[in-house]
Amino acid sequence: MAQPSSGNHRKGKGKRRAERTSRAGLTALVVTVCTFVGGAIAYGELSDDQESTSLDETAKTELEADTSSEPDPVEVDEPDPEETPEPTPLYYEGDGTFRYTEGTGQTWGEGSNHYRFNIAVEEGTELDLDEFTETAVNTLSDERSWIAGDVSFELVGEDDQADFTLYLVSPHQRSVLCESQDVSVSCRNGDAVVINAARWLNAVEHWETDLESYRKYVINHEVGHRLGYGHEVCGEDDTPSPVMAQQTYQLGGCEENAWPYPNGEEYLSGPPGEYGGPRLPADSYDD
Ligand SMILES: [Zn+2]
Repeated sequence: MAQPSSGNHRKGKGKRRAERTSRAGLTALVVTVCTFVGGAIAYGELSDDQESTSLDETAKTELEADTSSEPDPVEVDEPDPEETPEPTPLYYEGDGTFRYTEGTGQTWGEGSNHYRFNIAVEEGTELDLDEFTETAVNTLSDERSWIAGDVSFELVGEDDQADFTLYLVSPHQRSVLCESQDVSVSCRNGDAVVINAARWLNAVEHWETDLESYRKYVINHEVGHRLGYGHEVCGEDDTPSPVMAQQTYQLGGCEENAWPYPNGEEYLSGPPGEYGGPRLPADSYDD
């Protein structure tokens, strides 16, 4: 989920520079040694690509050192395209308009508390409405979701009367819809059930199962708020977490869990309460 590649590049470059600097004063000695190493290469004693690359770079560095009569500070300060800041991801800010999934009128569950909902994704992002719809429908139609209680859901369209809208939006738009400064987590405000794209795409560091199960957790959690459920906390260590626990912040000793009714019959509750953090950084779309 993280994007460690740029960090690794940086580390690698720094290391190579350090090696380069320390070699500069030893050029004469190294040239002599190089002749011997070259012989070793000719006899095919290298065993893998990594070692081969390392020696190739050694040779290149020595060549540069030999032909340059003075220290070259430009080499240290030279802008490296791999080290320029990452561009802001396209999902980070959209245009504040929404594209809706077509209402099918499909209904899941037989509960008497019937909720009509529609599904929307913010335009101007590269968020995938079909993918979001598929996961949302798979989640809310699952027998371990809220329909295991006295609840039923019906998927309607943009222009239909709806009890709530399930949104997938940029972090910026999340703060608008939920009328708060936070841009790092998902939220619910009135009939707006808002999934934050930052979490949709990256989940959180401590969520180990897979991205799809985090997505189902966050949909069930935020829809749970719309159904009237408040926050709960872990009741007993090493047991599945209540879905209404703020698992985005921490697990509180419990195991991650996406479902309000994990066995399809009993609501898995915990003591009322909040974890209250640690808060994710406000611009934490790349964690
Ligand atoms: Zn919550």
